[in-house]
Amino acid sequence: MPELPEVEVVRTGLSSLLLGRKVLSVTAFRANLRYTLPNFSPLFNQKIKEIRRRSKYLLFDFEGDISENTKNNTSNLQTLVWHLGMTGQFHVLPKATAAGAHEHVRFDFDDGSSLRYRDARRFGYAGLMAKIDWPQHAWFKRLGPEPLFDAFDVEYLLSHCLGRKLPIKTLIMDAHVVVGVGNIYAAEALFLAGIHPARAAGRISKHRLQTLVNAIKTTLAAAIQAGGSSISDFVQVDGKPGYFAHSFHVYGREGEPCTRCDAKIRRIIQAGRSSFYCPNCQH
Ligand SMILES: [Zn+2]
Repeated sequence: MPELPEVEVVRTGLSSLLLGRKVLSVTAFRANLRYTLPNFSPLFNQKIKEIRRRSKYLLFDFEGDISENTKNNTSNLQTLVWHLGMTGQFHVLPKATAAGAHEHVRFDFDDGSSLRYRDARRFGYAGLMAKIDWPQHAWFKRLGPEPLFDAFDVEYLLSHCLGRKLPIKTLIMDAHVVVGVGNIYAAEALFLAGIHPARAAGRISKHRLQTLVNAIKTTLAAAIQAGGSSISDFVQVDGKPGYFAHSFHVYGREGEPCTRCDAKIRRIIQAGRSSFYCPNCQH
């Protein structure tokens, strides 16, 4: 499943290829993915102005041609929101390339290229909304801050931890607290910070929470950087998935030696998910 770093790498890759391209047509080969697909016709003759990311959503901002829209006011600015679900992938291919397996939507552009959305398990979904409205949409309005933004700092995290008995790992994976800290990155960040994943959130000092905030940012930023080198993979004709394997300190390493102290990595189940930690380095 793509996590925040993978989605950010997809965003960077698509931005490098698609900005300024005008949509000539959109073809949906089915009416629904996870949810019913939107009517894409408001995007015809619109140009992709910017591609942003919020949590694990890609936001494609569109802008009409002034020559074709007599009033180019804010009300006609559309944002296409896309979530990749479990197996969603975008590929940028020549228009003439035949549809691949599990290809569900294609956008054809004015320069002869096309954007294809492929999704074997069809848990992805999309919505089209006015640019000014998307932050208030149900998908976004209760989300916590972006982990790499300054708003996610120790004071903020402390305010969510005070008095809480909830395990710290469960808390940092709650998208209402902070978005984009998935199971893998939560485990890795807690290892770097030396904090046991089951420790009660309210029983961690401010100093240690500062270390955790730094570890979350470092872990996600490193994953984004590692993925940057594989951008070309998901835009080629026979593109592989844009998701990448990292080397982990604890994630998926039960019974293997800790990279720091050689103790055996342990696995426990928390909130239905596997948690990996070093019993010697994390308290
Ligand atoms: Zn260790």
